[in-house]
Amino acid sequence: MAVKSILTEARDIERAVALINLGARLQVLESETNLSYERLLRLYKEVAGKSPSKGQLPFSTDWFLTWQPNIHSSLFANIHEYLSKAAALDDIDVVIKAYKLYTEQMEACGIEPLLSFTRAWRLVKFMDNNMLGMTKCCKCGGHFVTEPYEIARNFTCGLCVPPARAGKGASVGSLRLERTTPAQPVQQAAVSPTALQSKVAGLGKDLWSL
Ligand SMILES: [Zn+2]
Repeated sequence: MAVKSILTEARDIERAVALINLGARLQVLESETNLSYERLLRLYKEVAGKSPSKGQLPFSTDWFLTWQPNIHSSLFANIHEYLSKAAALDDIDVVIKAYKLYTEQMEACGIEPLLSFTRAWRLVKFMDNNMLGMTKCCKCGGHFVTEPYEIARNFTCGLCVPPARAGKGASVGSLRLERTTPAQPVQQAAVSPTALQSKVAGLGKDLWSL
C-alpha cells in the first residue's frame, strides 16, 4: 500500500479548511480533496462548529439563468475566467480565489452575495461540461452566463434589458432598478437603486475589460 504523502495531505487539509470557511458543502470537499469522508466530516465539525447540511447539490442550470442570479453568476464567471488565464493555480484554487474576489466586490457595493460557494463551484463545472456558456451582450459588450448555444447577434443581458418584474419586491442588499416613480421614497436602501445598479454594471465593465 502506497504511503500517503504528508505534504499532499497537508495541502488537502488546508484546502478543505478554506472551502469550509467559504461555506462549501461536504460534497464539494469530497470532490476536491483526497481526504476520507470520515476525516472531512470531523474537519467540517471542527472548523464550522456544526454538522454539514444534508441534501443534494443543485443539479439544474436554471438558477444561473434567472435574472438576479444571472448577474451575480456572470460577474463570478468573468472573475474566474480572468484568473484562470492569469494565474498558474490548480483549478479548485482558482475557484476559491475567484469566489473571494466576488464576495469582496459584492461587500464593497453593499450587495448581498447571492451566489453561494457551492453554486459558484457548480457553475464552473456546468461551464466545463458545456452545459452553460458565456455570450457577449450586443448592447453593453459584457459577457453573461447563458445557454451554451445562445445566438450572440441578438443577445441582450439582464442589465441592459431587465425583465418586467426585475427589482420589484427585492430585499435589502439585492439589486434594484429604478422603475418606481421618483417621488416614491426608497425604503430600506441607504444607497439609491440606480447607484447600486450602476456599480454592478460598472464593476462588470471593469472586469470585462481586463
Ligand atoms: Zn448588456
